[in-house]
Amino acid sequence: MRMQLARFQRALRERGLDGALIAAPESMGGVNARYLSGFSGSSAYLLIGLENAWILVDFRYWEQAAIESPDFEVVHLDGQGIGNVIHLCKSQDIYCLGFEEDKVPVQIWRRWNEAIPVVWRPLERMVERLRLVKTTEEIALIREAAAIAGDSLMEILPNIVGQRETDVAFELEWAMRRRGAEALAFPTIVASGPRGSLPHAQPTSRVIQPGELVTLDFGARVSGYHSDETVTVATAQVSRELSHIYKVVAEAQAAGIAAVKPGNSPQEVDAAARAIIGAAGYGEAFGHGTGHGVGLEVHEDPYASPGVGDQVFEVGMTITVEPGIYLPGVGGVRLEDTLVVTESGCERLTRVPKHFRVI
Ligand code: ZN
Ligand code: ZN
Repeated sequence: MRMQLARFQRALRERGLDGALIAAPESMGGVNARYLSGFSGSSAYLLIGLENAWILVDFRYWEQAAIESPDFEVVHLDGQGIGNVIHLCKSQDIYCLGFEEDKVPVQIWRRWNEAIPVVWRPLERMVERLRLVKTTEEIALIREAAAIAGDSLMEILPNIVGQRETDVAFELEWAMRRRGAEALAFPTIVASGPRGSLPHAQPTSRVIQPGELVTLDFGARVSGYHSDETVTVATAQVSRELSHIYKVVAEAQAAGIAAVKPGNSPQEVDAAARAIIGAAGYGEAFGHGTGHGVGLEVHEDPYASPGVGDQVFEVGMTITVEPGIYLPGVGGVRLEDTLVVTESGCERLTRVPKHFRVI
């Protein structure tokens, strides 16, 4: 049986719930239904009891749901979605039903509340909390995505000078797809020269020059799982100021990575990286969080930002460490790796070395 489903059913029992209704129509866009069932289509409802589970899908997905979600009984939706749920709740003695209060639109929630005769209880991000600790299979998929992305970057990196940022992004994306990425993890960022001060710069027609820094933030997706990595390279010798901020960011990243270990909190990772950038006098030039979890979503719990969250690292959690310094009119540096927490600290899933590199 799927481990994710078994863990969820155990958590439901511990909370005193008889079941949960997880909705994943296109409009709600969540990945929790996929996490629990393995179903990768764009529209489904999961009704999960303590012993049994049903996946309600329309004609498009009858066959796919049976293949992808063998632990679930496939219920054919025929326009009577709520009717099916009412029938199942009555026949299965489900009285107390959990729902995702942060995802169901008010309009749909009102309909459920009026029509389905159960006591509703908010799940309070129960699925997200289960998703924090990854299975071996999940980690293998993130590692595979990171390998595809890293190998692709190394292939295109020698040829970026003289190209437009948009061309570099396209070459990188094409290389990732050729290596088996099912999709990009997110729109690729390429920020060259002074544009490096824009943390989330979209690639433009600017031509990359010799003697500047170029920041590339990129990732691949494999079976729904993402990688996330940022590399900054020099296109020839750069100014002392730029090579200095590179050194500071590299030190901050190393300090952040050193703080990723069981028992530490993501906030300690953020504090370790931020302290180094602050001590070098660039505190004001580092305005974003230091990291985030990576999995079925590119950005997911836990977050390594000042004062956010109450998690403590456990073996199997993922986190990025991505400090940066951004100087308007001058340029910027960001270095990012995706890591998984291990017994002894952490392991890097992304592969491109972060030492100062002149291409
Ligand atoms: Zn990134
Ligand atoms: Zn990131």
